Amino acid sequence: MNPYIDEDLQAIGEHARRFANDRVAPGFLERDDTRVLDRTLMREMGELGFIAPELPEAYGGQGMGCLAAGVIHEEIARADLSISYLNLLASLNGQILSQHGKPEVVKPWLERLTRGDALFAIALTEPRGGSDAGNLRLRVERVGDEYVINGEKTSISAADQADATVVFGRTGSVESAAHGVTALLVPMDLPGVATNRFDCHGQRAIGRGSIFFENVRVPVDHRLGDENKGFVQVMQGFDFSRALIGLQVLAVAKVALEETWEYVAEREAFGKPLSAFQGVSHPLADYETQVAAARLLCLQTLWSKDHNLPHTAEAAMCKWWAPKLSYDVIHQCLLMFGHGGYDRGVMEQRLRDVLGFQIGDGTAQIMKTIIARTKAGRAAVPA
Ligand SMILES: Cc1cc2nc3c(=O)[nH]c(=O)nc-3n(C[C@H](O)[C@H](O)[C@H](O)COP(=O)(O)OP(=O)(O)OC[C@H]3O[C@@H](n4cnc5c(N)ncnc54)[C@H](O)[C@@H]3O)c2cc1C
Repeated sequence: MNPYIDEDLQAIGEHARRFANDRVAPGFLERDDTRVLDRTLMREMGELGFIAPELPEAYGGQGMGCLAAGVIHEEIARADLSISYLNLLASLNGQILSQHGKPEVVKPWLERLTRGDALFAIALTEPRGGSDAGNLRLRVERVGDEYVINGEKTSISAADQADATVVFGRTGSVESAAHGVTALLVPMDLPGVATNRFDCHGQRAIGRGSIFFENVRVPVDHRLGDENKGFVQVMQGFDFSRALIGLQVLAVAKVALEETWEYVAEREAFGKPLSAFQGVSHPLADYETQVAAARLLCLQTLWSKDHNLPHTAEAAMCKWWAPKLSYDVIHQCLLMFGHGGYDRGVMEQRLRDVLGFQIGDGTAQIMKTIIARTKAGRAAVPA
């Protein structure tokens, strides 16, 4: 327990951990090979209320706080980071749909989402670049009561497994930059949508790929937020997902540390347990300290969101620090296992899995620019 996790949240976390240990952890290694997201597991998670519990009850959620989503998310991630993408994508897209969509259009989708019956992707990045996200070019033209989409999004998590995608496209002029972007809810079975799948270094069960749009027609009522305001209004949701990503990767670092402490206390060299050597125990103690601090920052950020307090800079801190820290922690843990750590197995898979988040959802450089802007102002930090 800590100031953010009360008894109720602790009980929710324990419930999620039992499920994750029994149902998610056993397939962790196998899913890296098969690269298939288990839909049965997704539905079980939905039945147990583990998917987007922060959404209003009217949309199939439980009206819980964002901290509850964070507590569940870290327990699933402990067992398999790829599977915890279900929580991440549901919370991020769920918030966007519930806050910016037409209720009659988004309600059935949100009910499917929370039931574990529909997987959502989010598509911002394009072949020409992802960091300068406001400069995107996917063509979206209004024709009567429809939007017509043409172009490509790339590096999209779950691109070929998603049932629907939140797509950001250009409705305004190129010069209007972030002020000419519109967000749309796009069912993936519409005519003209095609996808592919990349061969990823990690996070292989969720995967990434491109989405190709050829004259894809979406009804105007599928717009999320106002026309040309998609970027400015809808991007706010990323503050939520950045704190969740922090907890997600730190959970993987924490389980790696737990296993490593156990190993170094048992294995001997020079007639002593490895942990007797400060060269072994002090790096682990350093990382325990940093992981504990980074986790508190993530929880604080979600607490601020639950209390409607500003948290954009804090969310960016979670997003650059936690993935870098988690990677360094797991790297250190892997080395503590000696030659065994280099075999294919849980530790090297964790290392590959967390690395993706040093890029996905924005790199450290972009996060630091967001922090700098919050502190010094946009005029002082233009790019
Ligand atoms: C695992 C993973 C999952 C992803 N999932 C999704 C998804 O679901 N949806 C989606 O839309 N995208 C997704 N992406 C794409 C991701 O958001 C982009 O890769 C990311 O934003 C960076 O864009 P880029 O790859 O085009 O790099 P670029 O924008 O080409 O940048 C290349 C390098 O230059 C640096 N750089 C760029 N501009 C600056 C600057 N102003 N100052 C300093 N350095 C700078 C960057 O930090 C980076 O190191 C995912 C990527 C990965 C790896």
